[in-house]
This record gives sequence, structure tokens and C-alpha cells, in this order.
Amino acid sequence: MEKFDVIIAGAGLAGLAAAWTLAGEGIEVVVLERGDYPGSKNVSGGRLYLNPVRDLFPGLWEEAPLERAIVREGATLMARNRSFTFHYTGSELRAEKPQSYSVLRSKFDRWLSERVEERGAMLLPKSLVSDVIRENGKIAGVIAGGDELRADVVIACDGVLSLIPEKAGLRSPGRAHDNAVGVKEIIRLDPSVINDRFNIGDSEGAAHLFAGDITKGLFGGGFLYTNRDSVSLGLVVSIEDIAKEEAAGDVPGLFEAFKARPEIEPLIRGGKTVEYGAHVIPEGGYRALSRLYGDGILVAGDSAGFALNLGFTVRGMEYAMASGHYAARTVIEAKKAGRYDAATLAVYQKLLEESFVLHDFKTFQDTPRVLSNPHLFGHYPELMGNLLRDLYTVPAGPKSSIFTTLRRHLTLSQLWTILKDAREVTKI
Ligand SMILES: Cc1cc2nc3c(=O)[nH]c(=O)nc-3n(C[C@H](O)[C@H](O)[C@H](O)COP(=O)(O)OP(=O)(O)OC[C@H]3O[C@@H](n4cnc5c(N)ncnc54)[C@H](O)[C@@H]3O)c2cc1C
Repeated sequence: MEKFDVIIAGAGLAGLAAAWTLAGEGIEVVVLERGDYPGSKNVSGGRLYLNPVRDLFPGLWEEAPLERAIVREGATLMARNRSFTFHYTGSELRAEKPQSYSVLRSKFDRWLSERVEERGAMLLPKSLVSDVIRENGKIAGVIAGGDELRADVVIACDGVLSLIPEKAGLRSPGRAHDNAVGVKEIIRLDPSVINDRFNIGDSEGAAHLFAGDITKGLFGGGFLYTNRDSVSLGLVVSIEDIAKEEAAGDVPGLFEAFKARPEIEPLIRGGKTVEYGAHVIPEGGYRALSRLYGDGILVAGDSAGFALNLGFTVRGMEYAMASGHYAARTVIEAKKAGRYDAATLAVYQKLLEESFVLHDFKTFQDTPRVLSNPHLFGHYPELMGNLLRDLYTVPAGPKSSIFTTLRRHLTLSQLWTILKDAREVTKI
């Protein structure tokens, strides 16, 4: 029977980040990954915000296989037959240390796992953790591939459909209400075509989010990120909404319709789909987080629910890396004390509360509720689209005054609805 200092279940960003920090302190750590290699099972839109995690992993970023530094932001509100887009760029996005990059997880996770192994961690791919070992009320290890592996601490980093915190009694099964499903394609294009289509330079990238008719009124949206020689295009929809709205419940069908839209098709024309993935995303926010620690166990990344969709940013990767890092720091302290009970491991919660992780989750705790307002995905895109149509149209006959056009669309009852919805937005 093997005994380690630490067992990490899952070699995604949370697990690899925890292993990187632990191995750097000479702690004996084994990472168990069910996939053939780290990155083989991981799906992400692909935008990593470095600012919050840059200093937590010194020396890691210089050689990292990052795709393009994002220098152009875009958002499109899509009505049935028209859309409204805005673009943003700013000098801060072109700073010497850019705030965010597009990444490809199959490349990035594999590279990170090699760095982690170089630091001394043991990585075991094709190892599915199926259960935890409980001894005297404490988690004492895991069962993987029928073998018992023991450790002073288990760190659950097994992603959104996490089994380990459930088996350890730290969370109940995930609810449809707190999760969304995303589909994504990586579409290969020549780098010069990408530069031209998105108006960017060689190592520069664009990020674009879409909301409205593409999800047929369901809570969700689309994304497009440029990589070096491909674009990542995807669509995310609330699982609860899909279950309720049977007619619209075909996510691959919605995705195909999204790709065929006149706003999207010219951007991916001539491209070759080289990867297709689908994955669940935790979107329940602060109130849906699992318990973060117990006797002999810590929970990090998506496994704990650490992903946040604010509509204009989708973030999970840096929360995964940061929570993995703070879980590792907790273990380092626990090892010094020689105790791994819940009271000792509670320092994890404190470290997360002092960091951006739980600060952000508390600040944006009402966001999932406010953003689930169906007006945002149907009513407002149509209203905005129709208003702009009438402002831009030059009819054969005389044109209405701007005020008449505005009044036609912004009736008193419309304004009242906008006011009520705007009041909700002040809570986020
Ligand atoms: C479509 C989509 C778009 C997204 N866009 C973005 C974005 O642009 N920016 C951003 O920051 N975040 C984004 N996210 C969220 C982000 O991808 C996640 O928050 C992040 O990947 C979480 O990392 P993790 O390490 O916790 O989990 P994961 O990356 O899911 O890793 C979990 C690992 O555990 C392994 N595993 C699972 N079960 C077991 C088991 N029983 N035994 C052994 N191994 C196991 C898995 O194979 C996997 O390797 C997106 C997510 C999706 C699905």
C-alpha cells in the first residue's frame, strides 16, 4: 500500500497548480489524472487572466505556451435578424505584461504538467479516482484503478462533475440550476487571415462575447477567442433552461445556427475544425460553492465551484490555479504543524478570503441571479436591434424624427421595465 504526503485528484489547472507549489517545497505529491495526458479532457473558452496569478507562480510564465495577448475586446447583442456590436481597445491591453492571453488547454496543461514533474511531483495519467478511503472519520486516501493510495491530505481537483467532495460529504450532487453546458470548436485558420479578419498584429489577440437570440432566450451566450493559428468558438447555455425549454434544448443545433449567422460565418470561412469539445461549467457563484475543507481533504477549482460568469468576462482558470496554490500553501503549513484535521486545514478558507478568489465571489454573489433575467437574452436584443434598424433606415418617403423613432420603441411601459431591470443591475 502506497502512502504519500499529498494525493491530488485531477491534473487540470487547479491540480497542477497545487502540485507545482507543493513540489517546489519538496513535498511528496502524486497527481492522479483519468485522461491519457493532462489537457486531454479539459475544455475552456480559452482566455486566461494573468494579473491575479502572475506573482503566485514566479518563473512559470516566461516560457508558457500562451497563444495571443488579448488587445481587442468585443461584444455583440444579437436579435433574430440584426445585431449590435461594440469594440474596445486600450493602451493597458498592450502593456508590457498583458492582462490576459488566449490559451489552448491541450497544449497548456500538458506543458504545465511537464514543469510540475520537473519539480519532483509524480504524475499518473489514466488513473481514475473512484472513491475516498475514510479512516476514523478522516479522509485517508483514495481508490484509483482498484488500488488503495494513502496520504496525509487529499486535494480534490477533479473538476465540475467532481465526485470526491461528494464522497467526502462536503457537497451534495450538482444542481442543474448552478451549471451550464458549453460546446466549443477550435477552427484552424492561417495566422495572417486571423490578423486581417480581427484587425490585430502577429502576437495580438481578440476576444468577443455574444448574447441574445443565439441561445433562443435561454441564459447563456457565445464566445470567440483568437489563438496563434486558430479561433476558439463556443456557445454556453444554462442546463436548467435547456431542461425547461424542450423546443430550444438542442445545444449542438444552437451552436450550428450560431456558426451560420452572418456575423460569425465570414470570421471562420475557409477554416478547418480540428477539435470539438463539450463540457459543464459551474455558474452558481458564491452560494453554490462546496465546503472547501474537511478532515484530511481540501477542494479546489471547478470541483469547489470556482468559476464566475459576469456576462462580459468568463473566468475559471485563474480561480482554479489560485485555489490550487492556496490549497498547497495550506498543506505546507499543516505539515509544519504535523496535523491535517479540519481545524488545521481551515486556514485554506482564510487564505482564499484574503485573496481575490473569495473577494470576487462575495462581490459578485448576486450576478448569477441578475444575469438570469430572460429579458437580457430576448427582449433587449430585439428592442435595441429594432431601434437601430429604424434609426439607420432611410425610407422611400419622409423619415420620422429621431424623437418619434425613440418614442415608438421606448414606450412608458418599456421604460418602466428597463428601470426595474436596471435597479437589479445595481446589485452586481
Ligand atoms: C466552454 C467553456 C468555456 C470556458 N471559458 C473560460 C474562459 O475563457 N476563461 C476562463 O478562465 N475559464 C473558462 N472556463 C472555465 C474553466 O475552463 C474552468 O473553470 C477550469 O478549467 C477549471 O479548472 P480545474 O482544474 O478546476 O478543472 P478541469 O480543468 O476540469 O480539470 C479537472 C481534471 O480532473 C480530471 N478528473 C475528473 N474526474 C477525475 C477522477 N475521478 N479521477 C481522476 N481525474 C479526474 C479531469 O480529467 C481533468 O483533467 C470555461 C469552461 C468551459 C466549459
